[in-house]
Amino acid sequence: MSASIVSNKPIRHVLGISGGKDSAALAIYMRDKVPEMEYFFTDTGAELPEVYDYLDKLEAYLAKPITRLMTNGDFDHLLSKYNNFLPSPNTRWCTREMKIRPFEEWVGIDQVITYVAIRADEDRDGYRSTKANIQPKFPFKVDGIVRSDIERILINAGVGYPKYYEWRSRSGCYFCFFQRKNEWISLAERHPDLFERAKKYEKLNTLTGEQYTWTQGETLEQLVARASDIKAQANSRKIVTRRMPWQELLANLADEEDNESCLICTL
Ligand code: SF4
Repeated sequence: MSASIVSNKPIRHVLGISGGKDSAALAIYMRDKVPEMEYFFTDTGAELPEVYDYLDKLEAYLAKPITRLMTNGDFDHLLSKYNNFLPSPNTRWCTREMKIRPFEEWVGIDQVITYVAIRADEDRDGYRSTKANIQPKFPFKVDGIVRSDIERILINAGVGYPKYYEWRSRSGCYFCFFQRKNEWISLAERHPDLFERAKKYEKLNTLTGEQYTWTQGETLEQLVARASDIKAQANSRKIVTRRMPWQELLANLADEEDNESCLICTL
């Protein structure tokens, strides 16, 4: 690392809250271990209302503000910058622009340790910055904290789980393309205004016949028309899952997290 680009300020300790259970538990876990910790949340402007409620609860427990980092320009502005190409699992400009860039700009040239909420029972790396002045630490991995510990930490602190876990498995933008089909249906039922907004972003190129949709192969309008089938499928998966031996169940959950979640968005 070149000495000329590093600030002489003391090392900063920062912890990103994603709106999910693991990063909330890490914030609680670290509160008294690193009193100088700075908490932040990268706000895409497209978060679920439940996430903001959860941040308020967490701030009350931490007795510190969670700094909200905003993107330079809202999603609509960025969408036009990317020629109206909706982000997708293969072209995740949203994560780069709305999550990583605001964080790295906030950090600047300061030397920073960022605390990342990857659990000991997860087989993934999580976000690692390419910048040499940003170094990650993984306290849950080091201390052997697993999924059942997370529940205990959240409940003991009186913070509990985010409300959206009643119908959605992870935090992130209301239009996140990582959400499952039955979660889109739940979005339509719980937040019809947000579902309508997501629908408006979908486009048909009348010249080529190409569709720009949030989910592969169908529009949200088509998806919601199949709501009862999608719900029935989701319910039958739940029944199968309930009958699985616990080892199989855990492996199943781990696979879902690794393959589908918005990993970098849970900084
Ligand atoms: S939550 Fe989903 S849509 Fe939002 S920035 Fe992350 S990957 Fe993109």
